[in-house]
Amino acid sequence: MDTIDRPIHATHAVENQPPPLAGYDVAARDVALLEGVRREGAGWDVDGLYALGTLAGSEEAIAWGFEANRFAPELRTHDRYGNRIDEVAFHPSWHRLMEVAVAHGLHGAPWREPRAGAHVARYARFYVWSQAEAGHGCPISMTYAAVPVLRRRADLAALFEPVLTSNEYQPVLLPLREKRGALCGMAMTEKQGGSDLRANTTRAEPFDGDTYALTGHKWFCSAPMSDAFLVLAQAPDGLTCFFLPRVLPDGTRNAFRIQRLKDKLGNRSNASSEVEFERALALRVGEEGRGVATIIEMVNHTRLDCVAGSASLMRQAFAQAAHHARHRRAFGALLAEQPVMQNVLADLALESEAATALMLRLAGAVDRDEDAREAAFARLGIALGKYWVCKRAPSHAAEALECLGGNGYVEESVMPRLYREAPLNSIWEGSGNVNALDVLRALAKTPDSLDAYFAEITLARGGDGRLDRAASSLAQMLAGNPAALEASARRIVEQMALVLQASLLVRHAPHAVADAFCATRLGGEGGATFGTLPPTSGTKAILDRAWPI
Ligand SMILES: Cc1cc2nc3c(=O)[nH]c(=O)nc-3n(C[C@H](O)[C@H](O)[C@H](O)COP(=O)(O)OP(=O)(O)OC[C@H]3O[C@@H](n4cnc5c(N)ncnc54)[C@H](O)[C@@H]3O)c2cc1C
Repeated sequence: MDTIDRPIHATHAVENQPPPLAGYDVAARDVALLEGVRREGAGWDVDGLYALGTLAGSEEAIAWGFEANRFAPELRTHDRYGNRIDEVAFHPSWHRLMEVAVAHGLHGAPWREPRAGAHVARYARFYVWSQAEAGHGCPISMTYAAVPVLRRRADLAALFEPVLTSNEYQPVLLPLREKRGALCGMAMTEKQGGSDLRANTTRAEPFDGDTYALTGHKWFCSAPMSDAFLVLAQAPDGLTCFFLPRVLPDGTRNAFRIQRLKDKLGNRSNASSEVEFERALALRVGEEGRGVATIIEMVNHTRLDCVAGSASLMRQAFAQAAHHARHRRAFGALLAEQPVMQNVLADLALESEAATALMLRLAGAVDRDEDAREAAFARLGIALGKYWVCKRAPSHAAEALECLGGNGYVEESVMPRLYREAPLNSIWEGSGNVNALDVLRALAKTPDSLDAYFAEITLARGGDGRLDRAASSLAQMLAGNPAALEASARRIVEQMALVLQASLLVRHAPHAVADAFCATRLGGEGGATFGTLPPTSGTKAILDRAWPI
């Protein structure tokens, strides 16, 4: 047989495949982020965002994200001699991600170095860095959110706040007083009652002063390698909040047993576990019977982190979709130059910008919560933002994934990871219905929060007729008894969130963005999927503002 004289790989020419989206500053071209950060009082941290953005978009950090998810954490219940240790082993890439997050203060900078805009800067950093990898945000978020609860006991805060907010990551179990940096988790959910915390059965028996012995279980306890946990348990006078350290002051391990790690849909870099307490010692925080009221402050912060996490995921999903479409040709032209794809990308960009604007406005309210109106606005705004932004993330991720065609369905792209991560923020910290009902509760119990909400919307009055009409019909809808609205809770909350997002865009975004948002989200001109903006929309202007590089 004749040999054919040609290179061995002659059939394998790689053409029309985009270069990887790497080696870029995730923050630098995120105009919606940068404008919002300045608007909400954290313009002083723009350089910090660029530094973290450069790291988040680096090949190195992207590789950490892949490895931390491919090599999932492993539970080590016992040492080789049979002693119970209840530790979790992580891939080195997880530790690199955590080191960066802690060094950049994502877990505690606003508490450690308070200043105007500190929370806005922290939420913006969380949003930027989560684009490298989202799973490790869980312990970072819980540690950040635990501090205001701990402050309810000045003695505990004096002892443990410095170590929980330190910029040093020290993944070793030691007594808290010996640590240079520590993490705090949260354990509320039980098998028989997750959302309904009143059904919790874990018992807390008085042991010595403010120390109690906890016996029971938790069905979900993420980041079980943390140094301490805020836990809910039934004390003699009812459900109470406790601070439970993993290691006791004498160096022995507390009776905190990790039963197994959950095999999860996504969020695979992060360890989520089932745990049991066998007379584990814990310190009471807040009064007996006031457990939910005490821990709710932590939940409010983690809920806003869910908003930030979902906004971050949408931005990264858009960035990946846009990058692909700007490099891939089909039917004789770049995808990004073809009208239907432009419509899809612009619609994804709109959703992403609306999520980012809302996240930053809510972070600003947290920063300014000494102002009663801002605090009231945050009470309602965080609950409705958590509901809506987190609900939008899965469909946004699915549509962005499809922009990459088959490549988006393959694990070597980041899209499957974003897609699997997307539903989680809507589940934890209060699932969709629970959040929607919480909005109704806020309406019923804190009428000033509704006043603050409408005061905010009024700032945009006259900017867009569709927004004005939507705000009026919302006011009519809410004029009745909120308790009678339960069956319509989702519809109401969705509308409240859309009106709030639209008002922010009308006030602060370019006309093309606000106009397309109002037309499709309030004016009935959009369809059921992304990519259904009316042809008159300023697609080019929306995209020119949003391109990631
Ligand atoms: C990956 C992961 C990590 C987690 N980590 C932690 C952790 O670290 N610490 C922790 O404490 N928990 C954790 N959780 C638990 C999480 O907070 C709960 O799963 C969540 O709050 C829902 O509770 P549940 O699973 O018991 O569902 P349920 O409470 O049974 O709810 C099931 C469904 O019913 C709906 N529902 C509930 N009540 C009502 C109502 N009154 N009317 C209408 N609908 C209702 C809910 O919205 C939901 O859709 C984690 C969960 C996951 C998935």
